[in-house]
Parts: sequence; C-alpha cells; structure tokens
Amino acid sequence: MVMTGSGGEQMNSTVGTASSRKDCRITRVTAYVVGMRWRNCVFAHVSTDDGINGVGEGSLEYQPQAVAAAIDQLAHRYVIGQSAFSIERFFHDALRNEFMRGPIINSAIAAIEMAMWDIVGKALDRPVYDLLGGRMHERLPAYANAWYGQAKTPVEMERAAAAVARTGYRGLKFDPFGDCGRDPRAADVRGAIDLVAAVRQGVGPDVDVLIDAHGRFSVGSAVDICRKLEPHGIYWMEEPVDADNHGALAAVGRTIPQRLATGERCTSRYLLQSLLATNEVDVLQPDLIHIGGIMEGKKIAAIADAAYIPVSFHNPFGPVATAAAVQLDACTSNFVMQESFCEYDVEMRFDLLEHAPRPVGGHYDIPDRPGLGVGEFRPEVALAHPFDKDAFLPLFRRDWATRF
Ligand SMILES: [Mg+2]
Repeated sequence: MVMTGSGGEQMNSTVGTASSRKDCRITRVTAYVVGMRWRNCVFAHVSTDDGINGVGEGSLEYQPQAVAAAIDQLAHRYVIGQSAFSIERFFHDALRNEFMRGPIINSAIAAIEMAMWDIVGKALDRPVYDLLGGRMHERLPAYANAWYGQAKTPVEMERAAAAVARTGYRGLKFDPFGDCGRDPRAADVRGAIDLVAAVRQGVGPDVDVLIDAHGRFSVGSAVDICRKLEPHGIYWMEEPVDADNHGALAAVGRTIPQRLATGERCTSRYLLQSLLATNEVDVLQPDLIHIGGIMEGKKIAAIADAAYIPVSFHNPFGPVATAAAVQLDACTSNFVMQESFCEYDVEMRFDLLEHAPRPVGGHYDIPDRPGLGVGEFRPEVALAHPFDKDAFLPLFRRDWATRF
C-alpha cells in the first residue's frame, strides 16, 4: 500500500520486502469498558490479517464511555487497513487531525498505540523493551498505592503501612488529607500529620514515604503543610496545588523541603515544556495512557532526563497499562520506581489477560514474552464485568479512600 506523507512525498508503508516479514494490517478494533470497583477501565482489542492480536488500555478518570467511543472513531479514521508497524504515523496523524486534542483523544490513541506495540512485538517475537533500546534494569522496584482503604486511625494506618513494608516495596504512597480543600482547618491538618507520623513509625526509616495531595491546597497552605511534614522524611510531595498553573506549582516547589512530583495530568510533550522550564519539578509522573502511549512515554522520559529528572509512570488503572509501564521502565535509564495498585485491587484484573503483571516482593520482574508480555486478552472476562455507573473515586468527598 502507498500512502502520501505530510510533505506530499510517496511513502511505502510496508515493513519490508522479505516475504517472511509480516505486515500485520489491522482488521478489527474492539473497545471494552470494564467495571473495576472504583473506576471503569477501557481496553482496545486489535486484530490483524496475520492472525496476531494485541491489546492496549485507554482508561481515563471517570469518562470511560467517551474514550470507548473515541477508540471506535479513531479506528475508522486512521487504523483499519493500516499496518500495526505504522505507530509514529498513527500518533502524528491522529493528534494533528483530531484538532481538539486532550485526555479523551490521547487515551483513545494510547489504547490503540499500545495494542500496535503488542502486535509488533509478537510479530517479531521480541518484548517491546527490546524494540525501544533493550533492558536497562534487572528488575523494577515498585511503590504501593491503595493499601490504606480500610485504615482510618493512626493505629490502623501504622499497622497497614508496616504490612506493606514487609512485602518489600521500595515505598508507599497515600493521601492523608481526607476531603480537605484549599485551606484546611488546623485540626484537619494536625490529623493528617498524625497519620503520616504513624505511617513512618510503621515502615521504619528505610522505606520511601510518598504523599499525594491531589492538588488540594492553596500555595500558602501547601507550603505550611509541607513544612509541618518535614520531620517525617517525605520522599516526595505530589501535586500540593493543582497542576494546571505551572507558576503556582513552582512557587511551592522552590519553597518546600520535599521533592516536588507531578505530571500525571500533563497530557503532552508540548505542555511539558513550560512545566519543566520552572526547574522545580523533581520527579515526573507521566501517565502512558493520557500522553498517548508508549512511544510518547519514551520521548517524554528523554526530555525529563535532559533536565536530570527521574520518571515514575503514573499507574492506577488496569493490567495492560501496568504491562506497558513495565516494558518502558525496563528500557528507561532515568526510571526510579513503578507505582503499583495490583495487590490492593480487584482480583479479576489478573484474569483479563493470559499473563497479567503482578509484583513479587515489591518488585516487578521483566517478562521476556513478546509484545507487552501479556499473551492474549480475554474478552469473556471483560464482558462479565460491564460498565459500572457507580465506579468513581470522588477525592473531595468524605472517606473516599474506603472505596479502594
Ligand atoms: Mg497522583
């Protein structure tokens, strides 16, 4: 097949001329919305004329049906009939032509893009990380999230945190601030600090304690709270203020003693420029779904590395996103640790795939199976857990974390 390139030149879109090479033309893209307790996850199952199937994930905070609809539209406009090897072209074409880009389009792009990588890896019988530079690490240290759903008091938090630490995780993350808004009352701040102190007590001095404020505070309250947290040795403070205003975020970053972590709501390499220009970001947390996939994650990690910033890919969703993160972590020199919800999530996440990633002793092993390393997607499991209207995590309502 011949396509016209952006400069009008003729481009051959086939993989090569050797008869043994597979071209993997995409014949079908099916989106699945799967209810998973506190969120719905979205998957794209992609088939090719070479008989190879791939899977990708497009989960987005609380608008799964919009993403599923976008996957259908993108498949029709850019994907059916094209080679799964045309990854760069697909991303470029979809991003330009969709025009009003943003999290919904990006997440739909990512679902298809990850499936393309899965197919390409299977066609070449290599893991995706081997196609993006090769393995940099022996295994991948992880940090736990969502471990504190049942814990409310300092005693319960200390006990739960100690159990996480015993598992072997490098760190653990939590949001101790309940339903606090911009400028919480002194008693609420004191209650949150007590929870942090209990967690530190539970894990001892050698486990990284990470705090996520989910963008709750004003600049003044953020600075005050971060100073009060100083005695407890916090490894990073994530989104102390909302991440849309890079100047406000930087004002906090330059004042607080903790590393400033952000990036899960930065949806492109273009927006990343002004975020990094502040020189106040210490850990970047791109979400491989929201930025548009694995290739974009590789590029963004390199941009971060140019500013000596480590990456820790945001990963609160399903097993395919985790598998994609593991592939990219494996071949990324400035990877620091992988966020993991796995052990505190619905058990069915391990049934959706033939080989769903699961941390062992607080680490992810790097699989040597081809593609994303997940084998086949299981549509029957997805269909058994349909869209759930109530799957939602409202971070500004009381006791939200009990939904974990
Ligand atoms: Mg976060």
